[in-house]
Amino acid sequence: MIMSRDIEFTKQVFEGILKVSGSPSELHEPEFIGKELENLRHCIESGYVSSVGSFVQEFEKLICDYTGSRYAIAVVNGTAALQVALLLVGIKPKDEVLVPALSFIATANAVNYCGATPHFVDVEEASLGIDFEKLEDYLARITSIENGNCVNNETGRNIRALVPMHTFGHPSNVIQLAAVCEKFKIELVEDAAESLGSTLQGRHTGTFGKLAALSFNGNKIITTGGGGAILTSSRELALKARHITTTARVAHKWEFIHDEVGFNYRMPNLNAALGCAQIESIEFKIARKRRLFEKYSSAINPIDGVKVYCEPNGTRSNYWLQTLILEKGFENLRDPVIALTNEQGIATRPAWNLLNSAAPYRNCPSMETPCAESLVKRIINIPSSPKLIENFEQ
Ligand SMILES: *Cc1c(COP(=O)(O)O)cnc(C)c1O
Repeated sequence: MIMSRDIEFTKQVFEGILKVSGSPSELHEPEFIGKELENLRHCIESGYVSSVGSFVQEFEKLICDYTGSRYAIAVVNGTAALQVALLLVGIKPKDEVLVPALSFIATANAVNYCGATPHFVDVEEASLGIDFEKLEDYLARITSIENGNCVNNETGRNIRALVPMHTFGHPSNVIQLAAVCEKFKIELVEDAAESLGSTLQGRHTGTFGKLAALSFNGNKIITTGGGGAILTSSRELALKARHITTTARVAHKWEFIHDEVGFNYRMPNLNAALGCAQIESIEFKIARKRRLFEKYSSAINPIDGVKVYCEPNGTRSNYWLQTLILEKGFENLRDPVIALTNEQGIATRPAWNLLNSAAPYRNCPSMETPCAESLVKRIINIPSSPKLIENFEQ
């Protein structure tokens, strides 16, 4: 039953969002404010629209310059980037890979594409990423180290990697997670699909793991239409990544020699042309998103029972998706707020359903995930396009 107090709360939250976003407003729109058209014209006129061409190398160099990563390999999408990153740390069929229960389904799918099994772990409210203390206790309880491998005593399989994800752009506690990985002989691969431009102690997310995956899908902070990138500081892994994403073809003037089963995962030049223009404006977009966070905070934080999610201490978030967190006790108001805003032309969304209850993965191993279960009932994503700040300033 909806009480009058609840109707009042729903209305206040709606009005707070409306004050900042206006209506109608999408959850996240791509913005093309630089040389996008010019680059696309160049690319088409050059004839090199496919997976050979100078924009791909240029885009990879721009990603490296921006993030501080030593190598970047541009690929067709973020899921493919994550799959290849996992293959390159040695994920094999029957391995287990630790994945946060609160993530987009692509994180678990990439594990599955390697023939491996995702093993779900809980997150913390402070960062919305994996809870390192819980993880450490859990691994101490259920694993043992045998021949340098971390073995899950319950399933007998190797736990080979951990994939932290930086939720909605907020850096997860990847420094502490790296220490846990080291202790338990587990590889660290970051899913940085949402967090390009976010930093932790001044260092970019995506540069903490042995490898990382970025996404440039249309809804991400910058877009290539569809696209992704693999980041690594290892020359050997970078060369391997380039090799297996280009059908594992051995360099030769005319012969087709392939030394293993590779993938056709390289980013087309046309998409990279878009990316070269997009990455030039990323700091402008992040600055606008950070001001948008301030505007939403002033409009919404005075309401009892809800807060705009704020970046964790010691981090700079790109604020890719602005997020409301309802306080405990207000869970029943998530759906009324989402319904009212959408009826009034404001796109708002709940978080993803948890991966350890998703149909393809509900029988996979999982720790208890009370924090993820609580958060998912209390998260509402709200309109986040950088241009919304123009409602306030030009
Ligand atoms: C977007 C996203 C991906 C996948 O990226 P695609 O480019 O859409 O394949 C992976 N993980 C997370 C957390 C994402 O948000």
